[in-house]
Amino acid sequence: MSVLPPQSIKAQVPRRLLELTWEGEEQPFAIPFRVLRGLCPCAVCVNEMTGVRTYFVEDAPEDIQPENMELIGNYAVKILWSDGHSTGLYTWDYLKKIQTESQSESQITDAL
Ligand SMILES: [Zn+2]
Repeated sequence: MSVLPPQSIKAQVPRRLLELTWEGEEQPFAIPFRVLRGLCPCAVCVNEMTGVRTYFVEDAPEDIQPENMELIGNYAVKILWSDGHSTGLYTWDYLKKIQTESQSESQITDAL
């Protein structure tokens, strides 16, 4: 089953975060712009044939930010980044996966 659209998507420019609020979740999920840019799932950033990522978080400028965001149907958001990159479609499924993975990572860190 695919993920329902978030109730809100906000670019918090001064804090350099994208905030996503999902239905049924009290806390918004905040992801740094730079991390999100580095996780761009498009064919330029990830080799379509091999699935190998060629663009990483460390490749993204420190001051990267979204210039524009466009909803694609009800399944994704397309982000135009300040570095001119605009081919990345972030589906709700993908954003939810990033959230789940980052949360399980921080749980590991918290446990240490
Ligand atoms: Zn990309």
